[in-house]
Amino acid sequence: MCAELKENYEWALNFLKTLYSPTCLPTVIVTDNELALIIFPNAKRLQCTWHIQKNAYSKFLAATTKEKIELENDWGRVIRSETVTLFDMALDSFVQKYDERYPEAIKYIHETVLANKEYFAYAWTNEIRYYGIRTTNRVEGAHNIFKQYLENSRGGFIECWKHMHNMFRSHLVVIKAAFQKSINFRKHEHNIAEFRGLHHHVSQYALDKICLQLARLKKMRSMCEIFCGCILWKTYGLPCAHMLLQYRSQGMPIPLSAIDSQWRQLNLVPPIGNEVAFDYLPQVEILKNKWVDFTEVEKLKVT
Ligand SMILES: [Zn+2]
Repeated sequence: MCAELKENYEWALNFLKTLYSPTCLPTVIVTDNELALIIFPNAKRLQCTWHIQKNAYSKFLAATTKEKIELENDWGRVIRSETVTLFDMALDSFVQKYDERYPEAIKYIHETVLANKEYFAYAWTNEIRYYGIRTTNRVEGAHNIFKQYLENSRGGFIECWKHMHNMFRSHLVVIKAAFQKSINFRKHEHNIAEFRGLHHHVSQYALDKICLQLARLKKMRSMCEIFCGCILWKTYGLPCAHMLLQYRSQGMPIPLSAIDSQWRQLNLVPPIGNEVAFDYLPQVEILKNKWVDFTEVEKLKVT
């Protein structure tokens, strides 16, 4: 947008909204701008952790390279604390360590950063299903790629539109290839009894995440039995350690229903929500159209 005005944001967000099915609007938005929440009132808000970190670190101007590394570790510990009690403890020791040397920076953190802590600190955001997206880096990356596509082009709207179209087309090729990989190929490490009903229906990325949870279970089984935390389930919609233990004790593989639909989406047909009757699913529509186009011989082959 040429100017970051409220009206411009409103126009862009309202237009974005028209691209979604009304029954399948975004449930989480990573944004610094509260306006997005007015256009998508049911969406949960997250703030980009990368930008928060960048702004916070910029206040520690006098820090040496060694101190900066230490600072990043200490601040990371605060943000990644998984409960409010742990967050308070980590924050206390952070403040004690840096307050004397960097009082202005600590003041900024208290007054500006922490005012929105529930939108970026894990202790609060671990209750939100955000599918692993905590930063706007993906959008910034896409913006940089778009600039490369534009090169030094000084063309008008049509020229820019053509470049943008080409960029999206090549993105779609990459996304489709990833879907095909999940549908057609099976990783060696995914050949386990737990995944029996999941192959070809769930993205390999999600299966990798569950593999990590299984590894956690192997290492810390007794701890998982007492306290799981269920973070993988709450934030990704994938079975957490205690759920995996339950399936194992019942001798059953992970059911497909325990995987959020986000990870079962292996085509580019837009989802239209859960409340829609089977007949109206876009996948059924595609099959119906294919059937109509088939010759009689092809129809006989299928039946
Ligand atoms: Zn759990």
